[in-house]
Amino acid sequence: MLEIKHTLCPSCSVGCGINVVLKEGDVVGSFPYKRHPVNEGKNCVNGRNSIEAFKNKIEEAIISNSKSDIDKAIDEVSKELSSADASKVTVICSGNNSMEEIGAIKDFAESKNFNIGFYADNLVNFDEVASYDDVENAKAIAVIGDLLYDNPLIGRKIIHAKQNGAKICGIGKEENCVTANIADDYSTDSIQEFLNKNTFDESCVIVFNEVDNHEDLELIKATAADSNCKVLPVFSKSNTKGTLSLIDAKSKEEMIELLDNTKLLLVFNDDVVNDIDFDFSKISKIISFAYVENDTTNISDIVIPIKSWLEQEGSFVNAMGESQTFNAIVESDVLSEVEIIEKLK
Ligand code: SF4
Repeated sequence: MLEIKHTLCPSCSVGCGINVVLKEGDVVGSFPYKRHPVNEGKNCVNGRNSIEAFKNKIEEAIISNSKSDIDKAIDEVSKELSSADASKVTVICSGNNSMEEIGAIKDFAESKNFNIGFYADNLVNFDEVASYDDVENAKAIAVIGDLLYDNPLIGRKIIHAKQNGAKICGIGKEENCVTANIADDYSTDSIQEFLNKNTFDESCVIVFNEVDNHEDLELIKATAADSNCKVLPVFSKSNTKGTLSLIDAKSKEEMIELLDNTKLLLVFNDDVVNDIDFDFSKISKIISFAYVENDTTNISDIVIPIKSWLEQEGSFVNAMGESQTFNAIVESDVLSEVEIIEKLK
């Protein structure tokens, strides 16, 4: 029997709805959630691929490249933790986790005096952000980064604004990118040059997903404060905005400094190896809790499978700060991160 169930896309912070197609309880496909207020019947290729990743999910625990019983792998992690120097243990939190999981991971790390590493695309929290309607209704939009490629359903709002007469100016690393194709004015200038040469007021929105350093973030903040224009940071992971409400993000340099001081690394549903350019062979033991294989699970000493977002309820906070809940749509007896943490306490 075919069934259609609603959920959220976990592949970036825009917060689009997706419909998942189930056949006899198994995930067989997806299509856009037509009446969802964020994406109004569209999903990008990354959104559609999130279901493909689920179909290849990790089913078994791994210890030193060999399949293992899950209870044995959790016991192994407990042993590692009990003999470790807490000051050399780092827990990687991630915007891939739901609010409920982030709360449990943070409490666990703090109760054990472990370090917490949280990387949010080199961005930080902005308390006041533009809504997607603000983007669509803006008179001018400054785009920093290739938003139209990376976060296409925000890109759609930018295109709607342009159709309504808004001027779009942008900067990025590549001259020929998707955002450049629709911008009225596009360059590879620095953020400082870009902000200096454009005029901003309360009818403008600065939308960005990429900065090289925190000085650039401070320039964006100062421009917004001086001109009353709105800002919208858009993150690569679904719940980065929510995670930022509980944990301060580290810059790339701060993450490298933390990793340099780490002997035991616990990675909760993240691909820190892909995010941070660091020699991870310097870390004695890496343990990943993950539902999908990635660069970090591939070099981990222990991998423990976890429930994905399709197998449990939870909530994400999208880029404009709206909390969105989702329900379990697939039955599963895999342990959730929260349940695994209970066993590790
Ligand atoms: S824009 Fe982001 S949230 Fe929307 S479908 Fe694409 S990856 Fe998913």
